[in-house]
Amino acid sequence: MSIISTLESKFGRFAIPGLVQILAVLQMIVFLMMYAGPPEMQAVVLKSVMPQADKVLSGQVWLLFSHVLVPPFTSAFACLLTSYFTLWLGRVLEESWGAFRVNLYVLWLVLSLGVWSLFFGFPLTSYWLLNTILFAVAVLIPNEEILLFFIIPVKMKWIALLSAGAMFFMFLGSPASIFLILFANLNFLVVFGPHFAQMWLHQGKVAARRSRFESAQLPQGSFFHQCVDCKKTEIDNPHLEFRVLDSGDEICTECRAKRG
Ligand SMILES: [Zn+2]
Repeated sequence: MSIISTLESKFGRFAIPGLVQILAVLQMIVFLMMYAGPPEMQAVVLKSVMPQADKVLSGQVWLLFSHVLVPPFTSAFACLLTSYFTLWLGRVLEESWGAFRVNLYVLWLVLSLGVWSLFFGFPLTSYWLLNTILFAVAVLIPNEEILLFFIIPVKMKWIALLSAGAMFFMFLGSPASIFLILFANLNFLVVFGPHFAQMWLHQGKVAARRSRFESAQLPQGSFFHQCVDCKKTEIDNPHLEFRVLDSGDEICTECRAKRG
């Protein structure tokens, strides 16, 4: 993350605060332009935001980005819900990462999909923005419950798994979509891939430690996790969750939130 920090100190002032929220509102406007007016508007609007190789090469570079505004559904309710959710997730992510990192993460997604579609002409929608933000937030606060459709309480990690499942079915329906799915998740894999690898390694270590503990029959008061900051263990608070830092030390989620 040190490269990102250096970039942030140099270019952080150029970051657009609330970028995801702005995009969510623009998505709604594009939806209204497409579906609130005469039917021929749909094609006109779509044509003016979808990337086309000849137009991009002749200088209309914004077409590499504007596909992120294409509504994912034709139903106003579904689009309103998507935009609202995107808006909420964007705010949560920015509180945790700051504007600069969110900008990088989103720009990467949008640009890589834009370039992808130049070559393969896949239809793109704002679904991918929602998906990528959802994944990031689900890693940050996996157990946070939100009200799905404003009614059903569901944990963030289950919603992210639902989205992953949808991508899996997309792949089953059309195996060629694997490349699109890959391009649309590259930013997530690069940002969180090392985190997951470390988590799996760590789980292996904990399992090994656990079996050592059990075979040694240590007295009560032995613990598996300890927070490097507040020194609390899972015995002090069984509900405490622990994460692994880059240094390999463990930190409780409370202290991690305090560190920012
Ligand atoms: Zn702690």
